[in-house]
Amino acid sequence: MKVLIASLYELGHQPLSSLALAGSLAAAGHEAQVFDYDRAGSGDVLSALNGHDALLISVPMHTASAIALGLMERVFDELPHLPIALFGLYAVNLSRADLPPSVGLLASGETVADVVEWVDHLGREEGFGGGLKSVTRARERLRMEPAALNRSLLPPLDAYAKLSVGGTERLTGYTEASRGCIHTCAHCPVPTVYQGRIRINKPEWVLKDIDQLVEMGAAHITFGDPDFFNAPAHSMRILRAMHGSHPKLTFDATIKVEHLLEHRELLRELADLGCAFVVSAFEHTSEEVLVKLRKGHTRPQMAEAVRACREVGIELRPSLLPFTPWTSPSEIIDLFEFVHDQELIGNVDPIQFTIRLLVPAGSLLLDEPATRGLFHGSESEPLSYGWRSPWPELDALQAELSSRLPSWLDSLANWQIFEQMYRLACSYLGFVAKDFDYSREQERSVPKLTESWFCCAEPAETMVIAPITLSRRIAAI
Ligand code: SF4
Repeated sequence: MKVLIASLYELGHQPLSSLALAGSLAAAGHEAQVFDYDRAGSGDVLSALNGHDALLISVPMHTASAIALGLMERVFDELPHLPIALFGLYAVNLSRADLPPSVGLLASGETVADVVEWVDHLGREEGFGGGLKSVTRARERLRMEPAALNRSLLPPLDAYAKLSVGGTERLTGYTEASRGCIHTCAHCPVPTVYQGRIRINKPEWVLKDIDQLVEMGAAHITFGDPDFFNAPAHSMRILRAMHGSHPKLTFDATIKVEHLLEHRELLRELADLGCAFVVSAFEHTSEEVLVKLRKGHTRPQMAEAVRACREVGIELRPSLLPFTPWTSPSEIIDLFEFVHDQELIGNVDPIQFTIRLLVPAGSLLLDEPATRGLFHGSESEPLSYGWRSPWPELDALQAELSSRLPSWLDSLANWQIFEQMYRLACSYLGFVAKDFDYSREQERSVPKLTESWFCCAEPAETMVIAPITLSRRIAAI
């Protein structure tokens, strides 16, 4: 069978799971191409589908799911008999949506074998038969041979997010040492599929892939594991070997506050092995919000994590979740002031201050008696549940920050955007803005990727900042 795997949006990273699936399909005797719609810009999926027997769509996040709905409609209009499958973290959530009858499989988790089997079945049967099947698996090991990952199926690294450091940009490769997560934060899509488990990628597989990325020109590696210190011994083993083979290579990884403090003794070595920065999901400074999200850390621990990392020369890049049903007006102001007081303004992508809690279908928040009554489903929005703040001015502020952000990004430095946002928040919510001294922030340059990171966020017009906004992307498909 000849299948097209479409990756729609992966935050500027190379679509690793699409590549892994392509490798497994090739090993099973199929011909698989990967079409990275996000990087192809105006590329037409229908033209790319020409001559293919099936379409497999990667939906690792909510934004990709929203784009997938438009794509499936268009494909069904033009090619009503072409079988479609969706795979990735959000695939099973799409069962609430009104899907075209040509969709035969929704597969979330460790489901490569299920997708390959579905394609095998297509080759044996007339059509895909059997109706829509949903599978969620987190137990099986992903059987990926090192040779199975063929990165030449994708555009060159230059098409993807790069490391920006000291006024220069470095080509960046994306890989993962593990998948899943041992934690069960209430707002996170990962535990809805992995239920507190992780799957480890073999170190030799990861290292071989990194060798391949370096040959392609990568000078920096992003480890996209949900948490790099879920299995610290495994991760450090990979880093030590990577540094031995490529001593100039730098890297970034995502590590939660709790793990940064628990494994504090590893931080200096992390820096010595080339760590450019660590992303850490701070989410909020409100203790109540942190408890509701089951984050497992406190406000003082966040400050401690910043100190611990700075002591060894690592900058933290916090991700935030400011707008939740539990956030009060004073807690929004407090979040801005914490970021200022911890000298983190240059460490936080401005989009982080606009993020509103996403409650996708299947969210753990919908299971909890204390929180589920806050969220309301609607037929017009099948992918997530809506909510309103008890303080309408907070909903209005979030919408205003979100709509103003694109023009600020075009014309202002990070610290200036922070100042605009902070002052706007104070004026909306009736607080007196403090006169902060931004002179230090004007001098600092904190390493970052060239595309903003966000995940558990309700999609907004401004979210897909490069190279095209979300509504234009959906309309263009
Ligand atoms: S938010 Fe991070 S630590 Fe929490 S469950 Fe999700 S991936 Fe794991």
